[in-house]
Order: sequence, then C-alpha cells, then structure tokens
Amino acid sequence: DDAQMVRQQLRDADRLHHVHSFTDHSALQQNGGAFIAERGEGSMLVGEGNIRLLDAMAGLGCVNVGYGRKEMAQAAADAMQDLAYYHSFQATTNPHAAALAERIAKAAPGALNHVFFANSGSEANESILKLVRAYWRAKGQPNRQHIIARDYAYHGSTLFTTSLNGLPPMHEAFGLPLSGVSHIEAPYWYRQGGDLDPEAYGKKAARSLKDKITELGADQVAAFIAEPIQVTSGVIMPPESYWPEIVAICKQEGILLIADEVVTGFGRTGHWFAQNHYGIEADFMTLAKGLSSGYMPIAAAVISDKVAEMTLQQGGAFQHGFTTSGHPVACAVALKNLDIIVQEGLVERAAKMGAVLHSKLNTAIGDHPLVGEVRGMGLLAGIELVRDRKSRSHYPLELGLCSHVANAALMQGVIVRATGNSLVICPPFIITEAEIDVVVAALVAALEQIY
Ligand code: PLP
Repeated sequence: DDAQMVRQQLRDADRLHHVHSFTDHSALQQNGGAFIAERGEGSMLVGEGNIRLLDAMAGLGCVNVGYGRKEMAQAAADAMQDLAYYHSFQATTNPHAAALAERIAKAAPGALNHVFFANSGSEANESILKLVRAYWRAKGQPNRQHIIARDYAYHGSTLFTTSLNGLPPMHEAFGLPLSGVSHIEAPYWYRQGGDLDPEAYGKKAARSLKDKITELGADQVAAFIAEPIQVTSGVIMPPESYWPEIVAICKQEGILLIADEVVTGFGRTGHWFAQNHYGIEADFMTLAKGLSSGYMPIAAAVISDKVAEMTLQQGGAFQHGFTTSGHPVACAVALKNLDIIVQEGLVERAAKMGAVLHSKLNTAIGDHPLVGEVRGMGLLAGIELVRDRKSRSHYPLELGLCSHVANAALMQGVIVRATGNSLVICPPFIITEAEIDVVVAALVAALEQIY
C-alpha cells in the first residue's frame, strides 16, 4: 500500500545518503536498509507502522521520562514561538538558559556551580578539557597537560574525547589516541580481581592511578576523567573502596577530577548523580542524555568554584563556545524534563524499580550457565555472559554471543543492547513492573534459544 511504498522510498533515501553512527554500512546495505522508528509512547517504541518494541535501553540510555510526553512538546513549541534562537555570547542570555544553569548548579554535588552548555556529551567533555588546560596555565603550570582515563571508558567521538576512550577499535581507523593521554585499569573486579575480594581489589585498581601519575611525573598530569560507573562494556561496578581512594589520590597529587555523568546523571542510578552515592565532589561534571531525556540535543559542562575562579573570573574572555550553547528551546525542554522528574518522583522511582529489575533478573537468569554476573545500580543493569562460570572465561567475541542474545530478545519485542561480552539494560524511569516482567521473560527466552 501507499504507506509501505513511502517507507521503502525512505529506506532507500537513508541507505543511499544517510551516514549512521557506529554502523557497518555494507551490512546495512545488504540488510535492505535501516529500521524506521516512527513514534514512541511511554516505554514503547513504534516503527514501520505497527512494530511495537519495549525499549529497555531508553534510546541510548537517555529517554528517562519516557516517550511521547506532550508537556515536553508544548514547552518546545512555546519556547520556539517566543524566541527560536539567540546566542549566549558576551553579555546576552535567555530566560531558559539562565534558569536551567541555576537549576543544575543547585542540584549538582558540592561546589559544582557553573554551567557551560553544549549540544552533546562529547562537546561538553571537550569543553572541560580546554578548561583543564586553561586552569593549569592560569596557575602557572602549563606543563600539566596529560589526561589520565581508563580502559573501557567512553567519553565521546571528537578527536580528543575519542582518544580518552578505552576502546581500541575506536582508535585504530583514525590513528588515535592523540598524545597526552594515558589509560589505567578499570575497576573491573569480576574480570580482573584475581584472588582479591572486591574491597581489596578496588583499592588496588585505584592505586593504578597513583602509579601512572608517578610514572608520568605529577607536574605533567592535568586531570583524571572517569564515569562513576562505566556503562559501555557492560556496567562495570567499582567496588565501594574504589572512589574514596581515587578522590584521595587526586587530592594528594593535586590533579583535577572530571566525573563524566552523561549516563549516570539525573537519576539513572536511583540517585540524582552517581557522585552522591559514592561521596565524590569532582572539579568538573559532564551531563547530557538525561538532562533533556533526549528530547533535544543539550549537554552541560559543570565547573567547580575553584576552577571557575582561575579560568573565568580573572578577567579576559573565555575563548570557547558554540553557536547553539544555551539554546532557548533546548533549555526550556530540559527545564520541563527536570520538572517532570521532580513532580513524579522519578529518581526515587528509578531506585525502587531498579531494585525490582535487579531482583527479577537475578531470580530468572542469575544462575543460568551463560550468565557470569548480573550487576548495576538503579535502572542500570549489565549482564556479563561467559562460557564457563567458574573460570569466568568468555566465548570469542567474534562469535557475537551477546549480539545473538540481544537479537533474540528483539524477536521477543524487547530492545536490550550488546556491548562487548555483556548486555546492558537501562529502561525509562516510568517502566512498570509488568513491563519489567516482559523484559526479563524476553531475556529468559533469548538465553533458552541459545542454551
Ligand atoms: N560520556 C559518556 C559516559 C557517554 O556514555 C557518552 C555517550 O554515550 C558520551 C560521553 C558522549 O555523549 P554524546 O554521544 O552526546 O556526544
């Protein structure tokens, strides 16, 4: 029929002209083109007419208030009618940017009180990295330029943030990483803990930061960047001993700490920020995804008083910015998103439904022969698949076991994501218990198909 024909035309247009992120384009050609997502309602994604999928990934871990919120659309329409665009260069602002900056500063941990707006998490991190350089130059220590990141990290797709990623396949095609970046071990107890208990291993993994600083020379090191919980590669949960030790090392060595809360920010873990749980007060915090629940592209680099004093309040222009920094429509939508989160108690709900999710996952698949570990916090869960539970060995990655399981779950109508040897689940905060049951049942069926 007509609708089918239009979809075919769109798929062809897409296939011929649209470059997709992180996608094998030759496979996309062979598979007849991309799936057309068309609508969303609550936790459900609807595409190609009538295909209804329960999106247990909330898009890419961002649609935290769920799809199809009319009040968000209204906030965007109102803001766009009033003022579709004006910049925030020099001495201009707009009501939504001003209000949102204050809102973020009030919610953010500790002295994180200054907000620079960007359009993506990558840009926010890149902006922070420039501020780090500005900070050390202002302090008269311009040699402090080296950034330490971690294996398995994901911080973005610009040249420098890609360099920070601890995922070698993202480097190879581009001749990265850039110089001035080092990686240390991730606090991945399940895989790297050896004979140590989690607490002892957490301290050991943290001390690899100290060792790296010693190796490089403290006078060369500018900052350490880390996600409080690493999501890519399967929700790597740091033992509780890890963060206190990291914070102490950063203080001792005088290096800046950047907490990348692009995924964990705004309630994903059942806390407003994962830093609240771990008792971290970083010098910088990166926010994106959940800031607008993905309804508009917007991100924030949140800057501490200490850094702002050195870099922003000493006179002279901050020589950095984007045309759409503090975009009025994006800021209005983000404000509405935060209203919804507060009014509906969605952070508390993420904690409560997270506990339900983890308990149901553990009961249903925790003992499955292919499941090594179910881990996470709040509505963020990782399931690591193994060949052998005792030795914790993996099947070869090329076998694509996780992708097979994710595809099998998709055939049950549920979207989960395969990353490395793990599956990730991070649904919208409004997910119901009945929907969690559907997610868990789909995983049970998917594992059964394979084992
Ligand atoms: N940092 C983390 C922890 C992320 O997970 C991501 C994206 O997934 C980014 C940064 C980059 O954000 P964006 O894709 O908006 O550039």
